[in-house]
Amino acid sequence: MERPGLYVHVPFCREKCPYCGFFSVPRLSMLPQWMAALPREADFYRGAFDAFDSLYIGGGTPSILGVEELAALSTALRRRFSFTRDAEITLETNPKDLTPEKARGLRALGFNRLILGVQSLDDDVLRFLGRTHNAFEARAALDHARDAGFPVIGVDLMYALGDPVLDRRWGETLRAVLEYEPEHLSCYTLTIEPHTVFEARTRKGVLNRTGETDARRLFLETTTFLEASGYHHYEVSNFAREHSLKARHNQKYWRHTPYLGLGPAAHSFLGKRRWWNPSSIRRYCKAIEAGVQPAEGWETLTDDQIALEKVALGLRMREGFRLDPALSRRIPAERLLRLEEEGLIELHGDRVRPTLKGMLVADHLPLELLP
Ligand code: SF4
Repeated sequence: MERPGLYVHVPFCREKCPYCGFFSVPRLSMLPQWMAALPREADFYRGAFDAFDSLYIGGGTPSILGVEELAALSTALRRRFSFTRDAEITLETNPKDLTPEKARGLRALGFNRLILGVQSLDDDVLRFLGRTHNAFEARAALDHARDAGFPVIGVDLMYALGDPVLDRRWGETLRAVLEYEPEHLSCYTLTIEPHTVFEARTRKGVLNRTGETDARRLFLETTTFLEASGYHHYEVSNFAREHSLKARHNQKYWRHTPYLGLGPAAHSFLGKRRWWNPSSIRRYCKAIEAGVQPAEGWETLTDDQIALEKVALGLRMREGFRLDPALSRRIPAERLLRLEEEGLIELHGDRVRPTLKGMLVADHLPLELLP
């Protein structure tokens, strides 16, 4: 049984990026209330989970918090939960926030994995994405993180932006980022999320989506280039320099391992049960101040739902999923053989793995397998 992971959602950003569908607000007025509420939410779960082997502080922009605030948060969590000695401790960081002093302070606090929201090293792309940092600041942040001695530096990037000129320059960003030898890379294609500025622009026809053919070509070129540079493509959007550098925490989401999420909009999963907090800082804090668990929704997954999720999530990872007896009964053998013949999956003993071609259509594959 794999150990559980702990997630903390910091729902604050300096500005709202026009493409962003994550829950965060561009003001800090409720930060003190959120800081006070979070340990009290953690109190509800004392003793409910085994020792965590990962802590992921994400958002929003967690690096908006100072080292002292992160130290207080970390102390509050360690008082309530146990962590394994080798726990992976991750902080998502906006390049603009990372001074050399802050990088050293975060490392001294015990963070061993820093994920930098670089997105691009091209100022035109950063302006297009409405980011608050520029390429110079992103390069400086990469240097500060390395100088501070983080064992794992991860870089988040975006491509397939729907602009042919910018899309042609994607390779330059990738090559430039590799000069910093990041241990981990997440390369996301731009998704137009509902209720975002980008969605409104798309509706008005002033923003385009990258066509399917071009998006597939960019995906294949990205994988080919990164694999030739020594990276393992272990999930649709994720690459690691060594197998041991794969994101331990994120793999829990893809493998149905238990996790606890604290903070507004955070999700948790234990046994067959999933629950989630309100996407509202006010409602979240109000519930906790009233002594009530803030979860606003929950569900108990049926065996069929668990099977579908195992297949859907497994087909996003190179390792695929295990065809256990329950799944063998659900998935008709002729469907497996057809997808294998079409070059979308590979069958290795009791494992079903997507090929690169299969990962390209990872969203549709589960429906092809499960009747
Ligand atoms: S910084 Fe990140 S979380 Fe905040 S608005 Fe931009 S993309 Fe969203």
